[in-house]
Amino acid sequence: MLETSPPSGVIFQIQRWSLHDGEGIRSTVFMKGCPLRCQWCANPESWSARPEAGFGFSLTVDELIAKLRRDAIFYRESGGGVTFSGGEPLAQPVFLHAALEACGEAGFHRAIETGAYAPWEKAAPIFNLLEEVFVDIKHMNSARHKELTGKPNTVILRNISRLLERHDNVTVRVPLVAGVNDDEANIRALCAFLQGAQALRGVEFMPYHNLGVGKYTRLGLPVPPPHAAPQGRHLEKLKDLLREGGLTVL
Ligand code: SF4
Repeated sequence: MLETSPPSGVIFQIQRWSLHDGEGIRSTVFMKGCPLRCQWCANPESWSARPEAGFGFSLTVDELIAKLRRDAIFYRESGGGVTFSGGEPLAQPVFLHAALEACGEAGFHRAIETGAYAPWEKAAPIFNLLEEVFVDIKHMNSARHKELTGKPNTVILRNISRLLERHDNVTVRVPLVAGVNDDEANIRALCAFLQGAQALRGVEFMPYHNLGVGKYTRLGLPVPPPHAAPQGRHLEKLKDLLREGGLTVL
């Protein structure tokens, strides 16, 4: 009988002691490969699915679990676990599915940070394995979304609608960039889209930062023009709009 080799994946970092990607102390597994090209991306080393310029390495599910086990006691004591991020973790669905099953067998709480740009047939079995989902919405207008990220938002919003019907622990994250997606019309459209979503824990603004700029040079990519994060009263106004729309601000 033919033996199938265990699935292997390509990741570019395992960040231990992560406190911002779910409950408790977590390990965040940053996976390579992303179908989007956001103008403000801080992780261009995640775009290619292959190791490049010293970024990224392959490993099997067993090797990943062995690395994660080092911190299992901290997950248990803090109510934490493992978060898969990227890049776009759904871009490696076979490896991710196997890794999530193995994490479940090891007793690790499982979360994902995703942009939800993937065929639903591949995303749904993965969402079924997760205790918590963080999903990005970058812009509500599909044409503008395509200008900003290279892809329309149709698949993304349809996937999020389906996710919100089936999952019970979803947080929507908005990477907020001044002059790009921080206008009131966009936030009102977001409120309308999310209205009545029972599974929604809340909405979290993720202000833009420029910490990834040096990586563009290292990868031989053109450095994107600088952006800025919304500040002060404008940011508070946007949060008020979410609350007026009946959403919880996280
Ligand atoms: S989805 Fe994330 S990793 Fe992909 S291009 Fe956008 S910001 Fe970068």
